[in-house]
Amino acid sequence: MILWHDTLIARERAQVDIEDRGYQFGDGIYEVIRVYGGKIFCLSEHLDRFERSAREIKLDLPYSLERLGSLLEDLVRQNQLTDGTVYLQASRGAAPRNHPFPEKAVPVIVAYTKEAPRPMSYLQDGIHTITQEDIRWLRCDIKSLNLLGAVLAKQAAVERGCQESILHRDGRVTEGSSTNVFIVKDGELRTHPANNLILHGITRAVVLELAQELAIPVKETPFFVEELFRADEIFVTSTTMEIAPVVSIDGRKTGSGHPGPVTRRLQEAFEKRI
Ligand code: PMP
Repeated sequence: MILWHDTLIARERAQVDIEDRGYQFGDGIYEVIRVYGGKIFCLSEHLDRFERSAREIKLDLPYSLERLGSLLEDLVRQNQLTDGTVYLQASRGAAPRNHPFPEKAVPVIVAYTKEAPRPMSYLQDGIHTITQEDIRWLRCDIKSLNLLGAVLAKQAAVERGCQESILHRDGRVTEGSSTNVFIVKDGELRTHPANNLILHGITRAVVLELAQELAIPVKETPFFVEELFRADEIFVTSTTMEIAPVVSIDGRKTGSGHPGPVTRRLQEAFEKRI
């Protein structure tokens, strides 16, 4: 079953209009949410971010967050999902193609589930990455459907046998194509501040909380690409990648070339949370 507006229906019954604005303009927003053991992880944090994205693009959500949350829980239950993800999307709706907001369009809400195991090999052995110029727009804090910048960056990584692109603006590291980036230097954690240049990752926020619990000092300040190569440890975070150690960048070994001790401590603490 999928969620279509506020009803669970068979996937085959859902029909997207060819003039849906999500489809034509990327005019909409989304969330990817993790399900562990049949329970939705950080549901209220994801719904709050969804609401914030909607507000920032002036899209009025047709349902309250409480309603949306219980619809998603119904969806997970109906589909008997134990480990996987929920994809939730709102587009501004269908209307004759024209850039300004249509007067009559009704937002289209869709959600569906996917079974997905935890990315154990990434978590244990780490991932390989490349660096790329960040060519995206200046509102990366909005989780919008416009993902072409991210798609091109991820594809460049895949074409070089890697799992992620680490993006930078004029040498300053912002985030990954679908992850937030952290470095560890002399026992201190650093990551880009949560401003307009990055997505305010839910996993990023969990890691910042865990660091505080573990008394690991954190600085939310930008750092340069050269500092990646001098870092003791690097890892990326996301709902689907969790806390994934980075073992190489642009073909060069990073840190010790193996997942580091601070990354391991954070992974263990994260494991307890889920
Ligand atoms: N940055 C970008 C650009 C992303 O697409 C994602 C994944 N949605 C993240 C960071 C990580 O965010 P989260 O931890 O909320 O999944």
